[in-house]
Amino acid sequence: MQRLESAGARAVMERLAAAGYEAYLIGGCVRDSLMGRAPHDWDVATDAEPEAVLSVFGGQRVIETGLKHGTVTVLCGDEPVEVTTYRVDGEYSDGRRPDGVRFTRSLREDVSRRDFTINALAWNPSEGVLDLVGGEKDLEDGIIRCIGDADQRFSEDGLRILRALRFASELGFSIESGTKAAIFRQLPLLGRVSEERKTSELLRLLCGKNVLSVLEEYAEVVFALIPELRPTLGCLQNNPYHCYDVWNHIIHTVENIEPDPLLRLTMLLHDIGKPAANEASGIFFGHPEEGAKIAAGILERMRLDRKTQKTVLTLITVHDVKIPPDSRAEVRRWLGRLGEENLRRLVKIKFADNRAKRPEVWQARRPGFEALSALAEEVIASGCCCRLDQLAVDGKDLLSIGIPAGEALGQMLESLLGRVISEELPNEREALLCAAREALPQIAKPF
Ligand code: ATP
Ligand code: MG
Repeated sequence: MQRLESAGARAVMERLAAAGYEAYLIGGCVRDSLMGRAPHDWDVATDAEPEAVLSVFGGQRVIETGLKHGTVTVLCGDEPVEVTTYRVDGEYSDGRRPDGVRFTRSLREDVSRRDFTINALAWNPSEGVLDLVGGEKDLEDGIIRCIGDADQRFSEDGLRILRALRFASELGFSIESGTKAAIFRQLPLLGRVSEERKTSELLRLLCGKNVLSVLEEYAEVVFALIPELRPTLGCLQNNPYHCYDVWNHIIHTVENIEPDPLLRLTMLLHDIGKPAANEASGIFFGHPEEGAKIAAGILERMRLDRKTQKTVLTLITVHDVKIPPDSRAEVRRWLGRLGEENLRRLVKIKFADNRAKRPEVWQARRPGFEALSALAEEVIASGCCCRLDQLAVDGKDLLSIGIPAGEALGQMLESLLGRVISEELPNEREALLCAAREALPQIAKPF
């Protein structure tokens, strides 16, 4: 604890204590510190009401983050410390958020409205850890357990279902059996939670170290969020490359890629088109395009930003393209089409995808993907011409030597680019103009 405690949070607690108030670090920061993880943020709980907190920190920079909910952010240097008055949530009439909050003088009451025992530990320098709900033991045992009646806690806020899975995935914990049973009973409650909150939890769940076993055990929860994935479960791949059905293949690919939200989401959706695609001898023709169509609706529903939506759809569409690892020209073409960042992503996707096939297939293909990765890096580093805007001539140059404007001009530029990429021509102005002049009679020929 000592090791990870923040100077700012300590100063805030001391100041509140000196003014006669209770003050504890609470929630995620205590949990993470006890586990030896660096907390994202420092939350202090106090019995002082917001106005009193404001007056205690009078001379200091404070942000009135959510006065109504009892939260004031105190800036200690650059370090923000959230100070929240002990509170009890009002009724959850809509299953999303409390109708109101009531401040309380009792830490016990504040702790009882929190979601899981491991998130309800309090700490301060004079008393050490204060554990009112058995959170320390659950933290030691690696268990996520609702505080109080699990069904009721999920029905107050359906997001807690996803938070339970997210913590299981991030921390490598298991969900206590009563809490688990309530999750499956209360799944329809997810329908009442806002898409933005669900998306943010799902992305964090996908990036957790324990994602594979969470997706395996809680597939039904993922299908409640993304029903379009359900047909992948039990969708058999009767070909020599695969050893899993589509769903089980997908979840292994998710684990195989680095924990970046965009890449993990791409893997979750990359084969979503397989059940609907035209299957012949275990090959799902057109599944990337079919998948991109289905994914478009899902990404929109998830309220992801436009750029992320577009990138994920591009990557799903191209995930199965074959790029020969010994063809510089093909790598240049793909670099031109996708750009550096997405070509690198595509290579990572190919690794993740193929590592989730039969071990023999992966073993046989691995050297090829390693060669592809090295060649892609080499081509990127060389800065060689892969796109029209890198070509040593442009439309104006071609017009000036008599190439007519319009379609012919565009075709000529594309043809020159193709010849530069295949190394038939150098990317040099004179050589390109000369080649264009040579081709001019064919263009000028009337059909
Ligand atoms: P992290 O910061 O890694 O997301 P955290 O536990 O700090 O984890 P926050 O969302 O920052 O999560 O919430 C801080 C604390 O507030 C939690 O530890 C928990 O005690 C409480 N809390 C947050 N969300 C809920 C919720 N939906 N229902 C009940 N309590 C919650
Ligand atoms: Mg937090």
